[in-house]
Amino acid sequence: MPLTFEQLAASCVGTDTTVPVLGGRRLRYVNLDNAATTPALKQVQDAVASFLPTYSSVHRGAGYKSLVSTEVFDRCRKRVAEFVGARFPHATVVFGKNTTEMVNRIARRLRVEAGDRVFISDIEHHSNDLPWRKVADVLRLPVDHRGAMDLNRLEEELRRHAGKVKLVAASGASNVTGHQAPLHEIAKLAHRYGALMMADCAQLAPHRAIDVRSPDDPGHLDFVVFSAHKMYAPFGVGVVVGPRQFFNGTEPDQVGGGMVDLVTADRAYWSSTPDRDEPGTPNLLGVIALARAIGCLMEVGFDAIAAHERDLTAYALEKLNAVPGLALYGDKAPVAGEDRIGVIPFNLAGQPHARLASALSWEGAVGVRSGCFCAHPFIQHLMGITDADAPNLLAKVHDKSRPDVPGLVRMSFGLFNTREDVDRAVATLGAIAREGPRGEYRFDSKFDEYVPVGCELEIDPRLGL
Ligand code: PMP
Repeated sequence: MPLTFEQLAASCVGTDTTVPVLGGRRLRYVNLDNAATTPALKQVQDAVASFLPTYSSVHRGAGYKSLVSTEVFDRCRKRVAEFVGARFPHATVVFGKNTTEMVNRIARRLRVEAGDRVFISDIEHHSNDLPWRKVADVLRLPVDHRGAMDLNRLEEELRRHAGKVKLVAASGASNVTGHQAPLHEIAKLAHRYGALMMADCAQLAPHRAIDVRSPDDPGHLDFVVFSAHKMYAPFGVGVVVGPRQFFNGTEPDQVGGGMVDLVTADRAYWSSTPDRDEPGTPNLLGVIALARAIGCLMEVGFDAIAAHERDLTAYALEKLNAVPGLALYGDKAPVAGEDRIGVIPFNLAGQPHARLASALSWEGAVGVRSGCFCAHPFIQHLMGITDADAPNLLAKVHDKSRPDVPGLVRMSFGLFNTREDVDRAVATLGAIAREGPRGEYRFDSKFDEYVPVGCELEIDPRLGL
């Protein structure tokens, strides 16, 4: 019997954990911060634990366990390729530590000449913005309140800069508003004007099916990057899937052991991808975790995952719209015309975002994130902040006054969340809207967060820390 959605949802580790709240009580923790990091799946935990007795070196040992480790590593690579519809030998799958690293690596390998450009939009996470700024002139396309860019404007700019645009980079889904970009439409335009297309799928991968499509398809995605820790496999792995030719045809950006055919005193002969691109000992256990999580997601299917999330998002938007003083950002409609992932940004009148996020935890055991979500330009756009405000904002950051820097609160759903979880968040927000936070909070620069006065954390003694 294939795994059902309900079984998978029930397999998330730690969803019944209780945490302390003000007043000496404990409540089940409602994790609504899945856009940052998801919990692990039980299947992932079991896969890692069951492989540990066999765990050994990859590609570097004649011993039986090393052979098994190498074979397993190879099968994981195939699973990742299958997950995004990539085909060997056209494609390669390279493992690293997270999305950020993988974008940096593509950026460093892109053969950029003076005047070459990379196009992004204002919605992008810093990880899909700053690496490009390091190597090329970046053109930022404006977006609307959801984070959608105007494809006509994109085409105009591509035409204007034809021959000079190396790559267009777009997020499959926004970590701020949940907006899903039409990746294949963007890719079609990029290819029409001779640019490559990179999809940052850090947010999309756990929520919707990804298909890089055949390289003959004008809407194909040249590069796809994503992170295991956002897809129920939090053991430190990031992936890029891209054209083998690109990686074999460019100088490795990281060098060391395990990626060479021969080294003499004054020369090194690089291996082919993926070895060439994975210097040093790989994170085999992390890769196994990712492959197992992918296996579970594929078994359940993205139709069921998306249906659950659409229901929850529509439910949450409807309830949040009714909280007095609550301002939603992005698409506010309970039944959105366009598909979006379950990421909802908001603010509550009179409540600093950082203190509100802390009060949600300490008064309702609801875990969310607040701030600018590593997408400062997009938050500035949403909140009407201009470049002229930058010195003032920077002064506040340097003055350790992060809570005074404008920002939002974000709830984001994982497959284990329920309507009950949304009810808890909405009830806690409602109480804060009516009466203000019950606790007294102070800003703690160690955590860069508000904490209640006298707060103590419970650290499991088994950690030995
Ligand atoms: N892109 C997007 C859209 C993201 O949401 C994130 C993580 N918040 C990243 C890139 C960076 O991912 P990582 O932290 O795994 O490098």
